[in-house]
Parts: sequence; C-alpha cells; structure tokens
Amino acid sequence: MLARHLMTSNSMSYMKAATACIDLPALEHNLSRVKAQAPNSKVMAVVKANGYGHGLRHVAKSAHAADAFGVARIEEALQLRASGVVKPILLLEGFYSSGDLPILVTNNIQTAVHCEEQLEALEQTKLDKPVVVWLKVDTGMHRLGVRPEYYAEFVARLKACPNVASPLRYMSHFGCADELTLPDTQEQLDLFLSLTEGCDGERSLAASAGLLAWELSQLDWVRPGIIMYGVSPFADKTAEQLGYKPLMTLKAPIIAVREVKEGESVGYGSAWVCNKDTKIGVIAIGYGDGYPRMAPNGTPVWVNGRKVPISGRVSMDMLTVDLGADAKDCVGDVAILWGNELAAEEVARHIGTIAYELVTKLTSRVAMEYQK
Ligand SMILES: *Cc1c(COP(=O)(O)O)cnc(C)c1O
Repeated sequence: MLARHLMTSNSMSYMKAATACIDLPALEHNLSRVKAQAPNSKVMAVVKANGYGHGLRHVAKSAHAADAFGVARIEEALQLRASGVVKPILLLEGFYSSGDLPILVTNNIQTAVHCEEQLEALEQTKLDKPVVVWLKVDTGMHRLGVRPEYYAEFVARLKACPNVASPLRYMSHFGCADELTLPDTQEQLDLFLSLTEGCDGERSLAASAGLLAWELSQLDWVRPGIIMYGVSPFADKTAEQLGYKPLMTLKAPIIAVREVKEGESVGYGSAWVCNKDTKIGVIAIGYGDGYPRMAPNGTPVWVNGRKVPISGRVSMDMLTVDLGADAKDCVGDVAILWGNELAAEEVARHIGTIAYELVTKLTSRVAMEYQK
C-alpha cells in the first residue's frame, strides 16, 4: 500500500538524479570582473581539468572575453581545437614528449618550457613552423621552472633555436599568493621582474590569487582559473565578497525521509548515533558522484532554506542528513550540496580540502545542465 502510494505521488514523478547546474552568464560576469580588476592585462582563461569540472567546451565557448586559454594536457588543447576554438592555447606545463611537437605546430598550440629535456627536444627536432614558447622560471615555488642561475642560458638557447617563435615569452607561478602576510609572493615578484627586466617578450605571473591580491603581478597576461568559476582562492574571503558569482550549483533529490530513534545509528560503520528522536533525509548523491567520502558529520547541506548537517558516513550513492524532528521536508525535495546558497568554500572547509577539488572531482554520473 505504502509503496504504491509513493510510486504514484507527484514528488516522485519529477525527481532528477544528481545534477550540476552551470550558470554560464555568471562566467561572463566573472570574466568582466577580472578585466575590470586587471585592466591592462590580457586574460588567459585557465580551463584545465575539464574547465575545473564545469565542462571544457561549454566554458570555452562562453568565455567570450578571454584572449587565450590555458590547459595542462595536450588532449585538452586538442579538444578545444576540435570544438572550433581558434584563440591561442597554452600548455601551462609544456609538452610531455617530443612526439607532441609536430602536433603543437599543426594545431597552433603554445608551450611552456620549464626544463632541459624540453629544451633539448626543441633543439633536436625539425619542425615545419616555429612554436610560441613561454620560458617558465622557478622564482621560488620549486615545482616547475628553470632556476634563476640557468635563466640566461635558457634564454640564449631558446632564442637561437629556429623552432622557437620570436619573441620569446616569460612566465612563473606563485606558491602562496593567497597568503597575504607571507613575504614569499613579493620575493617571487621581485625576482621575476629583475630576471626579465628589459626582455622583449610578454610576461605572465598571476593566477587568481595573484591578480586579485598582488596588483603589480598582473603584467601582460593574467591567468585566472578558480575565480572565473566563482570560487574564492582565499581562505578568509568568499567569492561573493570579492564580487564574483559561483557557476556551479550541485543538486540531488531527497529519496527518503526516515524516522530514527534516540540511540540508533545511521549508515556504514555506525559512524553517527542520534542523541534524540529525529528525521533523517537520504539524499541521492555519494562518492560515486564525486561527493567526498571524507565529509565528516556536521558538513552542511542546503535543504529548503536552511543548512542541515551530514549525519553518518557518505556512501557511494547516498548520503544522510539530520533534518530535525519537526522537519517538513519530503521525498522529491531538492538538496543543494554547494552553489549560490551554500558556498563550495564553506563545504570544503568542513571536509578539510579546497573548493578547487570539490568542483573538479565530480564524476561522469552527474548530469550537467547549462543555463545560457
Ligand atoms: C592552474 C593554473 C592557473 C590557474 O590557477 P587558479 O588558482 O585556479 O587561478 C594559472 N597558472 C598555472 C600555471 C596553473 O597551473
């Protein structure tokens, strides 16, 4: 009887599984904010990792104000070209094998050069046309880049290499631009400026945090990633406070509302025990959709105008929240995991990660819905 009643009720006829709604007009808004905050720089919109999980093609096609795109993998660059993108594209980490070089030429893809191996590959290959090269300098992050003491040699060899288009370009990357009290960023900026002083090519240093907090680092090109998606790069400032709008709202339906009694536990490992009678909402999203299994009890979920806490371990297809004893929430109501109502930054803080990871890690099971 109960089952038949449920199956014919309205709430069930409209339920959609986990869906990421992407507000593309917000992307245009965010890019115009970037332009306003860095008025003298060109914008290289960073769309690596499937546009930070927002959908590479959709993001690129809507980023009208971008002057170029930055990606991490040659496959990402080729996907952009295949979908008709003609703006410049830069491989931020450069090519990974010398066999990629002719592909860069054919598809008009620019590359970073950060190491001796890449330089030698360029010197030892015969290409039909020169490639636009950004010399990547390590100014203190010590992840990628040529150390300052080798800078002059790299410049000389790249300029002498017929496969390298003139003028050579110059880039570096900050390690702590989101930490405003540390001296590191100023030191990196000073070193980059002094190394490249008098150079003939364009320069780029700032990603989101740099362009927002370190105006002098904006130079010829800024490289915004996360802020373009409406997520703050800073721990203590939301995107909204910075004047940016989140692109992604992640939603999933409540598929059951259940009574549990004081002292009963919920979910795998009995990881949560209720201390009074309450109602549990079961939401159809889990780590199989990319919602982190590590989200602890208390991580907020937005349900019908309020935050409710995750209660019990996140499982593959579902998670459970404590709706409260007097809850009026129903099967079919839509929960928001993050988005306008609940900042991904806040959710990330509870989980002990950053919102970059949350938005990038959704799996292919999540439906993508684009609002134009
Ligand atoms: C990912 C990346 C960016 C963008 O960083 P955000 O913090 O997302 O703005 C810029 N430059 C390089 C080299 C990157 O790898």
